[in-house]
Amino acid sequence: MGNHLYDALTAGAVARPDSVFAETPDGQMTCLADLTQGAARIAARLIALGVTPGDRVMVQVEKSVTALQLYLGTVMAGAVFVPLNTGYTGAEVDYFISNAKPRVFVCDPNRLAELSEIAASAGCVQIETLDKHGKGNLTAGLDDLPPLAAPVARDPQNLAAILYTSGTTGRSKGAMLSHEALLSNSRTLAEIWRFTEADVLIHALPIYHTHGLFVATNVALLSGASTIFLPGFDQDAILEAMPRATTMMGVPTFYTRLLADPRLTRERAAHMRLFISGSAPLLAETHRDWEDRTGHRILERYGMTETNMNTSNPYEGERRAGTVGFPLPDVELRIMDEEGAEVAQGEIGVIEVRGPNVFSGYWEMPEKTAEELRPDGWFITGDLGRIDAEGYVTIVGRAKDLIISGGFNVYPKEVESLIDDLPGVLESAVVGVPHPDFGEAVAAIIVADGSTDLTEAAVITGISKSLAKFKQPKRVIFLNALPRNTMGKVQKAMLRTEYSDLFT
Ligand code: AMP
Repeated sequence: MGNHLYDALTAGAVARPDSVFAETPDGQMTCLADLTQGAARIAARLIALGVTPGDRVMVQVEKSVTALQLYLGTVMAGAVFVPLNTGYTGAEVDYFISNAKPRVFVCDPNRLAELSEIAASAGCVQIETLDKHGKGNLTAGLDDLPPLAAPVARDPQNLAAILYTSGTTGRSKGAMLSHEALLSNSRTLAEIWRFTEADVLIHALPIYHTHGLFVATNVALLSGASTIFLPGFDQDAILEAMPRATTMMGVPTFYTRLLADPRLTRERAAHMRLFISGSAPLLAETHRDWEDRTGHRILERYGMTETNMNTSNPYEGERRAGTVGFPLPDVELRIMDEEGAEVAQGEIGVIEVRGPNVFSGYWEMPEKTAEELRPDGWFITGDLGRIDAEGYVTIVGRAKDLIISGGFNVYPKEVESLIDDLPGVLESAVVGVPHPDFGEAVAAIIVADGSTDLTEAAVITGISKSLAKFKQPKRVIFLNALPRNTMGKVQKAMLRTEYSDLFT
């Protein structure tokens, strides 16, 4: 028996050891052989540190090729990779260590003093460091260490990673991802998005999240594509790379920020074959503007930490703005009502998915797992959506964002889409806030684009013909920017808290 995920991800290194995998801004090229050699040395080091199959290796480090080697090395050693958002504070790290009980915790050297005490009191004594240049005691003297000769055997159902959900509501939960969940999904994506060895992917996403770690990295490794590996979103670097690249994966804010830059032109994007967006809703307007400017229709897909990717707009065929396309070939998707029955075609309900991509449950949280993962394998995503007559899936919000005003359901996306179409509006977020009479009232938080003078009255009048009274905002608030997390998701929970006393 081999190592299900590692063997597949590194097969390219055996076939084409000299192919470039990553080009970094310092001009360094890492070929596939170097990538896997480094991973095998880190695997040997982890084992020397006492890591055994199934142990967790928790990592909170800056993005670098070495950090990717740490991911691959962990999987090669038969252990479970647990990456953390670099923005998490000591108190948050304390929770993650107590929950996952890692054998080894790797952090940035700058945070060693702060985190070593926290790690030790939370039960992890083995703390290592790694900085953004790949330096730290994890890699000190590594070149003298013989690489691990063969990967530790792991079967398809063994865990390869635990990724904590972004925790925008309540405590983060550790989604357990098996070798097969990761591998089957990346294989599907590489195929439907037509990735080949000829591709050059602009990789500017963080690698502690499913999008940058699994979608981008695993797809590139499986297909033999090379990457322009950037430490983060960098407008200049992305625009500079575009004429040599063929594909980019981004969150919607990548696209809106690039659109604001006059250097984004049809000529600059001429060498590209595919722009992919996900992790948060892409405005239909951004989709249209991107096409007008570059000639490319962005391909939007939908996924989440627990399931990898679920749907995608088609590579060939219509990439429909405002939709997330069709279920992937090996993913089943259905829309359910509150009683747990499938809704009529075209109706809105909660999206459920089933397939080899779905996680194995929440780490050490059997009750949470039972609440969201049905015994027959259907995962209740918590996203609200509908399927149109042609099979395109549209996300209309999160179930927890649903507003119930005076007993009537209001789907924020419907109100937001109308507000976004008003002249002078850049974007909006619609939330429910406590109201003494209606239970909840609709509040709209709007970012103006500065082209006209917007007022609360003008916004409400502007949408009043298209919306029932109970769906119309009772208050409109103007902000300079919406609060977002690093993956571009609007922090609605924060807005609800901020404006909780508008009517009370
Ligand atoms: P995460 O687990 O951080 O990847 O967040 C997953 C959530 O992001 C999903 O449950 C959706 O609510 C949202 N999401 C991901 N992709 C899209 C998309 N293309 N359109 C709308 N929402 C999305």
